[in-house]
Amino acid sequence: MLSLLLASLAVLTADTVRYEISFPNREHHEAQVSVTFPATGHDTLEIRMSRSSPGRYALHEFAKNVYAVSVTDGEGRPLVVDRPDPYRWRVTGHQGVVRIRYTLFADRADGTYSQFDAWHAHMNMPATFAWAAGLEGQPVAIRFVPPPASGWRVATQLVPTADPFRFAAPDLAYFLDSPVLMARFGLREWTVASAGRTDTIRLAVQHRGTEAELDAYAAKAKAVVAEQVAIFGETARYDHGTYTFLATYMPQASGDGMEHRNSTVLSSSGSLARNEMQLLATLGHEFFHSWNVERIRPAALEPFDFFRANASDALWFAEGFTSYYTPLPIRRAGLMTDAQYAASIGGTINAVVNAPGRHFFSPLEMSLQAPFVDAATSVDPVNRANTFLSYYTWGAAIGLGLDLSIRTRFAGKDLDGYFRLLWTRHGAGARYAVPRPYTVDDLEQALADYTGDAPFAERYFTRYIRGQDVPDFAALLAPAGFVLRARSGGGTLGEVALAFDSTGAVVQGNTLIGTPLYEAEVEAGDRITDVNGIPVRSAAAWRSVTAVLQPGDTARIGFTKRARGDQRVVTVTAVADPALEVVPIESTGAALTPGQRAFRLAWLGSKVTP
Ligand SMILES: [Zn+2]
Repeated sequence: MLSLLLASLAVLTADTVRYEISFPNREHHEAQVSVTFPATGHDTLEIRMSRSSPGRYALHEFAKNVYAVSVTDGEGRPLVVDRPDPYRWRVTGHQGVVRIRYTLFADRADGTYSQFDAWHAHMNMPATFAWAAGLEGQPVAIRFVPPPASGWRVATQLVPTADPFRFAAPDLAYFLDSPVLMARFGLREWTVASAGRTDTIRLAVQHRGTEAELDAYAAKAKAVVAEQVAIFGETARYDHGTYTFLATYMPQASGDGMEHRNSTVLSSSGSLARNEMQLLATLGHEFFHSWNVERIRPAALEPFDFFRANASDALWFAEGFTSYYTPLPIRRAGLMTDAQYAASIGGTINAVVNAPGRHFFSPLEMSLQAPFVDAATSVDPVNRANTFLSYYTWGAAIGLGLDLSIRTRFAGKDLDGYFRLLWTRHGAGARYAVPRPYTVDDLEQALADYTGDAPFAERYFTRYIRGQDVPDFAALLAPAGFVLRARSGGGTLGEVALAFDSTGAVVQGNTLIGTPLYEAEVEAGDRITDVNGIPVRSAAAWRSVTAVLQPGDTARIGFTKRARGDQRVVTVTAVADPALEVVPIESTGAALTPGQRAFRLAWLGSKVTP
């Protein structure tokens, strides 16, 4: 099957859309792109640059970095081009072949954008390549032209050919889903046997570290991959038997991770030596997406529309449950202690329980905010500190609550089992296919079927997913021997970011509803000059006047309003610091009971059978 497919894709047919990209001016972040469209049967050929990219939810308007455009026929004769808007070129008068050439500027290496420079060509395809309406189903061939003597190789999920710089794709959707790293990268490969087949995992890493650091990182990645495969019982059935990590760990990269069907982009300015755990967490998160999002896929994202913002009410599940499964396989692989895992889930619980945004929207509604928050930019201020709670964080907390609820109520069942059912029902399918994308109702039905308790599923979804309640985490964590408790026990005026200078502390961002600072009508841009008459011109000064506050203590805050510069002095009452943390019970001096030990082992112990 595979060899037949490779052979057929490698042969250029009359309907193949042909791409070529070269980098003669990469020092100034430019690439030269050429696309040849077989346009027979299309009197008017509409060429487009994508406006959005799968896995990112805002509009990105990739046409903004395209210039020096020329459109010709197959013989090189200029063609008539009409521009209905900034994203489209409508071409008429051709004889069946249309060729567009353009220069692309790109200088951001992350999951959404591209970057060309002396060190690499890091490419997200919708940010890089134009395509034609009506030709989406036709096969694609691409040639990458490496700079002379660069030593660059190509890492990608695109279908390889005998030529290491020529690749193919069955159609436009697969082509646009296939990011590319061209660089001198380190490569580590291993195989994973599951469900009667053997898949290859490739880890291509462009980095500034040593071979030994990369070996150590690859060993950890392998352990995390194995724990995730154990959750589902098999790999995500990669279309060509191979999954590729494309890691750009370079100073000029921007921190990100972006999932695709058979690969993921990992980008960071961090290094293997200093940021290994953070890089590993992103690697694991994106790999989990090869099941959850890429194949167990929200119906609203399928098929993806590259010409508008795509929104889904299921990102609390697609991103949030994936976030729950980000630290968990790392803990199961033995790369994190119970205390570190407790700190991780404690951070999540604290962020959710104390978020003012939870009172404005449900997790479903938060998911629909994605086009405004996911790498989106705007110039007018927003009130997200008070009205938004990330569906990553909230969803991770819902996933934690659901896993512990299932484990407590239904003997021998857990969230892993629920995911295996979803995989069978909605994920496992044929090559290139998402056969049965899900709705939120499907998720609830699957929970009812998995637990055999429809009222439980209905209650969980009504309270925590369609509603805005949070599970009783203290009670749910107790059987595992984890304690949810107040972090400080002291008083607070409210969490606030401050920038200090010689006259005081300028408030960065909106103050949070319900905090004493908010009640005192302190807002973003205001300058706090003193507390109880003591000047606050440094972080140390702020800490020393606020750390001593107990709940119920009053404090006199002197501040200057940003708008009119008027001085105010307001007396406020400190409230109990609501910050929460989770710790293992054994760290409090109490003993872990045999029951707690067994519960914790079943939850956090390795799932990989030796
Ligand atoms: Zn994600």
